[in-house]
Order: sequence, then structure tokens, then C-alpha cells
Amino acid sequence: MADFVPIDEAMKSALKEYGEDFYKEYLRRSIIYGWKDIIGETNAKHIKPLRIEYKRLYVYVSDSSWRSTVYAYKSTYLKNINEFVGEELIDDIVFGKPDEKPVEVVKKNDELEESDPAEEIKKINLTDEEIAEIEKSCEKYNDSPLKNVFLETSISRLKYEKYLRKKGHHECPKCGRLCKPEEKICSDCQRKERDQLYQEIRNIFYEVPFATYAEVKNEISNRMPEMLSYCQPDVVDRIKSNLVQEICSTLTARTKRR
Ligand SMILES: [Zn+2]
Repeated sequence: MADFVPIDEAMKSALKEYGEDFYKEYLRRSIIYGWKDIIGETNAKHIKPLRIEYKRLYVYVSDSSWRSTVYAYKSTYLKNINEFVGEELIDDIVFGKPDEKPVEVVKKNDELEESDPAEEIKKINLTDEEIAEIEKSCEKYNDSPLKNVFLETSISRLKYEKYLRKKGHHECPKCGRLCKPEEKICSDCQRKERDQLYQEIRNIFYEVPFATYAEVKNEISNRMPEMLSYCQPDVVDRIKSNLVQEICSTLTARTKRR
């Protein structure tokens, strides 16, 4: 992608508001899409990004002489990459598996735009009513130098929301946050629900210390039927053994004190 535009500060903070994971994912994609600009067109023909795991970038090279090039220029490439995204995101470049081939991200123009969220978000228009509402919510900052920052962030945020809705995201029925099309409730609420289930299973063991899996499952089906499918044998086992360990260590501590 020749004319990749790095995200500006307003977009950056809007992206960050949707969580660190989303933001990091955006930066990772930026590296893949902005690859040519990062290492130069000639190099990019022979050294191709495959994927990013933790802080490692896996690359494909067309032959062994390019492998040597990567070794020789690794620190320069790393510097360019991190400057490009404006974060210390990558700390090593390594080679992918021998049979791992790069995915061609640059195909047709329209396909490219489809796959770059920042470009797509920029194209989303807000209605006059939406803008008026945002301006109204910013009124309290009228005399503050922060007004524009707040305004820009709110606009980016609403555009991002509209973009997600276009992609099929829907409101979480529990908290109202947008969640992925394939999810019934958002990941935050999922975690909360699972925590509640774990707590309930612990309670059952406090009440009936030698409860079997079938008994626990039966109790859960009465107390929180919507969570029954998460009440799997391995989960119950893990909670039980954690509980036993906790009790044992409390007992050991008490015996030592005597
Ligand atoms: Zn939720």
C-alpha cells in the first residue's frame, strides 16, 4: 500500500478507548500494510511480513541471500518499524516456518481499502444531528483548550462505532457496549458471568465438600441455568483442587503458628 497514512493523535486516542488489545492489533496491521514504506520497495519484494506474535515479527524471505540481509539490517528495520507505529511494538525479527508463505495483502484497490479500518472509518459520514449532539456534549468545555481534543475524539469514536455496526457488531444486552457479531454478550460481561459461575461452584463445595461433578452440575442448573454449558468437568475439578490447596495452606499456616 503506497500511500499509507499513519494514524493521527485523535484517532490514536479514539482507538485506545476501545481497549489496549484493539489498539495493538491496529498497530500490528499497520506494520503489515505499511511494510513497503517501512523497509523500501525493493526490500519488500523479497522480505515479507508473515505475522506478529508477542513482540516478534515473523518474516518470509525469497532466498538465503535475503536471509543474510535481514540479519545485517535487523536493527535498522526494527528502528523503522517502531518509528512507523510510534511505539516500541517489535523487538525481534525472525524467520517463519520453511513452508510458511506470505499472504498477499496488496491486491485490488477496493479490497485493500476494505481491509484497512482507519481508511474505512475516515470515509464514514456523520449526520448533522449526530454532529450537533456531539457539539452539545462538548459545550461544557467551551472555554477550555481541551475542547477540540474532546470534540475530535468524540467524532472519531462515533465514526468508529458506526463502522463497527456496519460490520455487524451489536449492543451487548447486559451493558450496552458494542460486541462482535458472533458473540451474544461482550467479552467483559462474559468474564463477569464466568467469575460468578466459579464463585457459585466454590459456594457449592463450601456447602457440600464432597459433592460430585453431577451434583455440582445439578445445583448450577437450579441456581444459574444460563451458565450450565460452562460448567464442565475440568472447570469443576480445577476449582475443587484450588479450594483444597487453599484450605491446606491455611491449615499449614495455622499449625506453624502454634
Ligand atoms: Zn457487556
